[in-house]
Amino acid sequence: MIDAPDAEVLREEAEERLRALAGEHAVLRDDQWAAIEALVVDRRRVLVVQRTGWGKSAVYFVATALLRELGEGPTVIVSPLLALMRNQIAAAERAGIRAVTINSANPEDWEEIYSQVADGLVDVLLVSPERLNNPDFRDNVLPELAESAGLVVVDEAHCISDWGHDFRPDYRRLARLFEELPPGIPVLATTATANARVTRDVAEQMGEDTLVLRGPLERESLHLSVVRLPSAEQRLAWLAQTLHELPGSGIVYTLTVAAAHEVAGYLREQGHEVAAYSGQTDPAERLAAEEALLANKIKALVATSALGMGFDKPDLGFVVHVGAPQSPVAYYQQVGRAGRGVERAEVILLPGAEDRDIWAYFASLAFPPEPVVRATLAALEERGVMSTPALETAVDLSRSRLEMMLKVLDVDGAVRRVKGGWEATGEEWAYDTERYTRIAAERRAEQEAMLGYLTTTECREHYLRRHLDDDAAHPCGRCDNCTGRHRSPDIAPQAVEQARERLSRPGVELEARRQWPTGLPDLSGRIKPELGAEPGRALGRLTDIGWGNRLRELFHGGDGPVPDDLLRAVIQVLAAWDWRERPVAVVSLPSASRPELVRSFGERLAQIGRLTYLGELGYRAGSPGQQFNSAKRVQAIRATLAMPKDLAGRVAECGGPVLLVDDRVDTGWTMTLATALVRHAGAPAVLPLALATVS
Ligand SMILES: [Zn+2]
Repeated sequence: MIDAPDAEVLREEAEERLRALAGEHAVLRDDQWAAIEALVVDRRRVLVVQRTGWGKSAVYFVATALLRELGEGPTVIVSPLLALMRNQIAAAERAGIRAVTINSANPEDWEEIYSQVADGLVDVLLVSPERLNNPDFRDNVLPELAESAGLVVVDEAHCISDWGHDFRPDYRRLARLFEELPPGIPVLATTATANARVTRDVAEQMGEDTLVLRGPLERESLHLSVVRLPSAEQRLAWLAQTLHELPGSGIVYTLTVAAAHEVAGYLREQGHEVAAYSGQTDPAERLAAEEALLANKIKALVATSALGMGFDKPDLGFVVHVGAPQSPVAYYQQVGRAGRGVERAEVILLPGAEDRDIWAYFASLAFPPEPVVRATLAALEERGVMSTPALETAVDLSRSRLEMMLKVLDVDGAVRRVKGGWEATGEEWAYDTERYTRIAAERRAEQEAMLGYLTTTECREHYLRRHLDDDAAHPCGRCDNCTGRHRSPDIAPQAVEQARERLSRPGVELEARRQWPTGLPDLSGRIKPELGAEPGRALGRLTDIGWGNRLRELFHGGDGPVPDDLLRAVIQVLAAWDWRERPVAVVSLPSASRPELVRSFGERLAQIGRLTYLGELGYRAGSPGQQFNSAKRVQAIRATLAMPKDLAGRVAECGGPVLLVDDRVDTGWTMTLATALVRHAGAPAVLPLALATVS
């Protein structure tokens, strides 16, 4: 024990802690020590802006160890990366730091964790930013935690600033937390991606006397290039042709979930080991995919920006973007995941003409116009507490946009999250036109800068770092513009033809689920292959511009026989389906809301395709209702979905692959569990088919 923080003794101590954490040869760099000293000795607020891999977690774990030794309370870390911090937590535990997490996946443990914190048994408490939005946590737990904390850490702090490209409503609460925090509790905010304005804004929100430590963002292994190809099929073909030449394993980023699945599907057809990854991928599958990439078991993850913050693979060999992100800052953040621990990493951008339409689409998802917000507030005032699904029927916004708007209104004090949904507080609320206009203008400027990157003839790294206000930026000598070695846009004509064929194929692939969700007592890990499905098909995505409109119209109406135009289109999907073995029979799923639609869909398909219609699965008692997480959903479906005895007999008798049909696939769990029932009854293969899919 040391009585008073003496800087020299402390540095010795810090070095020792670092060695326990990172190995016997680890040495604190001066800038890391500067941050630790400011926190532990001066008890200041510190904003660290350093490139990924600089060692931010070492700073907060070492500072935690020192503060705990001085008798201070535990460190509270707010981080969106909890799931990805497993390695760091394990390292901290080896160094004698006890870390626990509070997130939506472990509610049964919270009480126990709070009492451990109160008893001084916890050194680090990790909290997801979404927790800050939970009324009980926000009102009762957080103030107490903050009061007794020895250190407060905010990871990915650029999300606090609405000047940033990645602003998150949950983070706005942090500004208030900073204000209310008792003096003398040190605060560390860290980010790898902040230009001068975002840095200034975050520092201001942290408080007047914030110390800003900002380092150069250069990464000497990155080789940046841009390949401009006019059509989507050319980009797909170019990627399929080039992927095996790229070093190691890497990430292929796409702008949309649909594109991630499309690109992954095509690359797999061309013999590449890749997997799709998006925010809609189930947590268990995401984890399995991340681990496959970390272990170099696959060539690439084809991912949306959901694969992002905190994903740490030092030997990541390449990052390819099919479609340009909206800002140089976002782009530099994503490519910065490559080449942390290797000498050379390839960074390639394949921009598309449609990128700007996609940007415009995302822009249209920004904060809704005033009349929509007013209508929401009026509905809440009139009807009291409403759930999000109930609000969806009153306000014409998508689920994600509605939730985003409610979070903003919550932080502004106009609504409140309560048991059973949301209620209006009755507090006066003003539509901040100036703020939304300013943010929109900022986005447009960023987009212009990104378009400039595509055509610039100057050093690409210099260009990006300049947009991050990195004063140390200089020509890199490695990018295509510096070296004059531009990647060849040549592609074999038959490869382009194959890609075109793939893109014009009617229907959407339904990827079978491969992992059970976590948190179930009796199901976990991989779904047994003998209970699994073949790749399936849907006519279209509800979000698509093409069939999406027609399908949304169908689902807005009531039940009825399957419409002829949709049936004709599905026949085309069947005709283009490259199944391994032709199905011989059809089974339909039971439907609580559209029994006639689903049954007639199955029967008429069987009729037209000369297949045997075997019948429909049943519900034991009532339908499973609605659940919002996979584990609950799976439990509810297992409790209700049933295979009637006579149907099981007919499935066993028919002996061939079965087409399993439903009207729409949302989470995919009904289809997955129905497949398992049909396979269990003796079908050698199951091919899922739906009119619509949400992903
Ligand atoms: Zn260069």
